[in-house]
Amino acid sequence: SDKSLIVSFGEMLIDFVPTVSGVSLAEAPGFLKAPGGAPANVAIAVSRLGGKASFVGKLGDDEFGHMLAEILKQNGVSGDGILFDQGARTALAFVTLRADGEREFMFYRNPSADMLLTPEELNLDLIRSAKVFHYGSISLIVEPCRSAHLKAMEVAKESGALLSYDPNLRLPLWPSADEARKQILSIWDKADIIKVSDVELEFLTGSNKIDDETAMKLWRPNLTLLLITLGEKGSMYYTKYFHGSVDAFHVNTVDTTGAGDSFVGALLCKIVEDPTILENESKLREVLKFANACGAITTTKKGAIPALPTEAEVLALING
Ligand code: ADP
Repeated sequence: SDKSLIVSFGEMLIDFVPTVSGVSLAEAPGFLKAPGGAPANVAIAVSRLGGKASFVGKLGDDEFGHMLAEILKQNGVSGDGILFDQGARTALAFVTLRADGEREFMFYRNPSADMLLTPEELNLDLIRSAKVFHYGSISLIVEPCRSAHLKAMEVAKESGALLSYDPNLRLPLWPSADEARKQILSIWDKADIIKVSDVELEFLTGSNKIDDETAMKLWRPNLTLLLITLGEKGSMYYTKYFHGSVDAFHVNTVDTTGAGDSFVGALLCKIVEDPTILENESKLREVLKFANACGAITTTKKGAIPALPTEAEVLALING
C-alpha cells in the first residue's frame, strides 16, 4: 500500500515552566509557555524530519487551544483530527523544576477538553488512512476519552496500521499505581511496537535491574518491537529474532524534555519509509542510531517542540 501517514492520538497541552529551577512556579521570577503533550510532540517530530503526520485530539475552544492548533499547522502537522470542545478548557500543566533537575507537574484537568473526546467524534476516515497509529498517555485514564482511545486503536488495527504505544506514565494523574499498572498492561498485547523508558520498565515489572530478564517480562508473542530508552545510556531493542542495545550520543544536555518523543518520531518515520527494518537487525541498529541522535539533539535545547531536529541536524551529529 502507498499509505505513509503517521497518526498520533492523545493530548496536547501547555506547560508553564519557571525560568529558574529549585522553586515552585508561584515563587519563580518568570515563566515560559511551552506547548507539549507527548502525542503532539511525536507528530511534530515526524513532520520536522520530513514525514507526514496528523494529530488526533481535543482542545478547548479558547485562546490556548487555538494557539496549539496553530503550532501544529505551522509545523506541518495535519489538523484534520483536531476537535474543539465548546465547554471545557485546554489542558495546562504547571511545572516545578527541582534543584536535582527532575520535573514535577500540577495539571489543570477538571476535566480538560482532551478528556472529553468521545468515540462518536473520531474522524474514522483519517484513522483508517494511517500507516502507523501512535498513542499512549493519559487518555486511558478516564471516560469518555478512554473509550475513544480504545475505539481509535481498534479501527486503526482493522485498517492494517501498525500500532505504536508509549505509556508515558504520569503517575500522579492515576487514581493509584496499581490501577495505572493494570490499565497500561491491559492494552499491552494490542500494540506492534512499544517504547518504554527505564523508569517505566521498573514500574511495570517491579524490578530495578535493567537487563534482558526484566525486559522479557514485558515481551508478548504478538509484539514486533519492544524498545527501552535509557537516557544518556542509549536504547535497548527486542524483536522475535534478535535483541541488543545501541549507545547514545554525547551531547551538551540542558533539558531532556521531549527526548523520548523525538526518539519515537524518528523511529516511526523510518518504519514508514522501510518496514523491513523490523526484520533486519543491521537496518534496525542504523535506525536506532538515528533515533538516539534525535533524542540527544532534543536534550541540547530548552523545551520539547523547539528542540526537535531536522534530518540535516541529525545527519550532522551522526557524521560528526
Ligand atoms: P524518555 O524521554 O522517554 O524518558 P529518554 O530520556 O531515555 O526517554 O530519551 C530517549 C532517547 O534520547 C535515549 O534513548 C537517548 O538515545 C536520547 N537521550 C536522552 N537523554 C540523553 C542524554 N542526556 N544524552 C544523550 N542522549 C540522550
